[in-house]
Amino acid sequence: MNQATLILIKPDGLKKSLTGNILTRLSETKLEIVAAKIVRVSDELARKHYYHLKDKPFFEDLIKYIKGEFHGRRKVMALVYWGESAIEKCRALAGATNPEEAEATTIRGAYGRITTSGVYENVIHVSANEAEAEREIKLWFQPDEIIVDLYPTKEIIEKEKKVRVWA
Ligand code: UDP
Ligand code: MG
Repeated sequence: MNQATLILIKPDGLKKSLTGNILTRLSETKLEIVAAKIVRVSDELARKHYYHLKDKPFFEDLIKYIKGEFHGRRKVMALVYWGESAIEKCRALAGATNPEEAEATTIRGAYGRITTSGVYENVIHVSANEAEAEREIKLWFQPDEIIVDLYPTKEIIEKEKKVRVWA
């Protein structure tokens, strides 16, 4: 069954110049990239993405981490991978959440670490299931940024919306 999954290359992955290595590993899946961009992660986006972990002791550090505060720049790379069993395939390649427990051959096992203050720097995010993928993809991408039709859309006319354009 075709599925979509959100992939984030987290700030440590970008800082360590691992983008190429990670995309090469993910290409083993033969899945299709149907959306990709570099995102400046706002506090609001970070908190919405990880809202289900808001009661965990590591939550505030996790928000700082995904916002890039530990790595000097507020950016992540966001992609949508699409194809047969996309979630399972990408989760398997990513490896366990705890990079010390992840198999050495997985992305997190190869490139992740736990900092001395206990933050898991595990390089990559992959949606855990289809419901989470839908919520996350809708959070990170607008319909027109994705080249396949994943979820129902509607057209609206937005009036008096302030947008930034080239000067
Ligand atoms: N995390 C952490 N400490 C933990 C558990 C999770 O720092 O004990 C962070 C880690 O960056 C992880 C993220 O919170 O990727 C989301 O946690 P989740 O349980 O959803 O793991 P994932 O789906 O990313 O494997
Ligand atoms: Mg998760």
